[in-house]
Amino acid sequence: MPADDLIIAELERLERAGLRRRLRRVDGAQDTWVTVDGKRALCLSSNNYLGLANHPALAEAAEAAGRELGYGSAASRLISGSMQIHHDLEAALADFKGTEAAILFSTGYHANIGVISSLMAQDDEVFSDELNHASIIDGCRLSRARVTVYPHCDTAALEERLAASRARHRLIVTDSVFSMDGTTAPLRSICDLAERYGAMVMVDEAHGTGVVGPQGRGVVADQGLTGRVTIQMGTLGKALGTFGAFVAGSRSLIDLLVNKARSLIFTTALPPSITAAALTALALARDADERRVRLAENAAKMASGLAALGVKLRGEGSHILPIVVGDSRRTMQLSEALLEQGVFAHGIRPPTVPEGTSRIRVTVMATHTPEDIEYALEAFRTVMA
Ligand code: PMP
Repeated sequence: MPADDLIIAELERLERAGLRRRLRRVDGAQDTWVTVDGKRALCLSSNNYLGLANHPALAEAAEAAGRELGYGSAASRLISGSMQIHHDLEAALADFKGTEAAILFSTGYHANIGVISSLMAQDDEVFSDELNHASIIDGCRLSRARVTVYPHCDTAALEERLAASRARHRLIVTDSVFSMDGTTAPLRSICDLAERYGAMVMVDEAHGTGVVGPQGRGVVADQGLTGRVTIQMGTLGKALGTFGAFVAGSRSLIDLLVNKARSLIFTTALPPSITAAALTALALARDADERRVRLAENAAKMASGLAALGVKLRGEGSHILPIVVGDSRRTMQLSEALLEQGVFAHGIRPPTVPEGTSRIRVTVMATHTPEDIEYALEAFRTVMA
């Protein structure tokens, strides 16, 4: 079969299954309102939870750093790309997360695959929540360790599997706030189990960082578990409004990653402009209690408004409010109907979520106004009628 036929056949298979994806064009900046494929719509699809992505202070920091330090980091951190501004941001992140040290990665995807494949190998065992992010799943695969997937947030099932393990080293890995479900992992019980069964704990705080806990330090800090979690991973591209990611932990963990994480060693360092913007975003986020209160208020208002329309939500009242539709095609039709009404709420399908659980993932932002939430609820009322 010529290559082109093979490619087209695979695209047609995806189309028939209702799983074909297309990139949508957003004109202008990321904000509470966006222009999607030419249509003005209220944005309920972003991870820009605090509304910092187009904050003027970030643009100023990026422009100043760009003028002074340029726009390229020139090489990997291990070659010539380890700039003072990277070290400054790492010191600020370690302070933020209450750890000895932190290390930047280019993305959260790089961080997760780098950490798991550096720590785990054949003869080791990773215990992974069934709803963990794809980058965690890929990190597990890369490590060649045995992977034991446990039912979502089910600590009794996790304990059974830990008790049965004969592996050399064990690692439990979980999202803190689950990206597609809005649930929060039972981290205290997970830490208890880890200590009982001699396992390390890795927590992906992509959706907790900046949002949950004092100064937005995340779920680990909020639950007083900082010293009990081996690896705290967080991203800069969501609530912190910029790009990149980090791992925070002991000095020796970070030293090991510098030596072994291929997704750190063999890739170009974050650009100085983005690093400067992230430093500014971190300072703003630590000080953003008012935004966090507004985010929680918006989530509560959206959740109760949807419940009043008879919409059943998954999750537990976080800022991520998934409406599970089930069928992929129906999910995308609902998303299109919402866009017709001026609301951008993207449909999420397998493999991002399990088969038969396609959904509209509604996320609110701190900067949505009460009128925006009313507007969204009116759109849902129209399309659900
Ligand atoms: N972990 C989780 C839980 C995520 O939701 C994401 C992003 N969707 C990532 C990791 C990857 O982060 P990044 O987008 O920076 O690669």
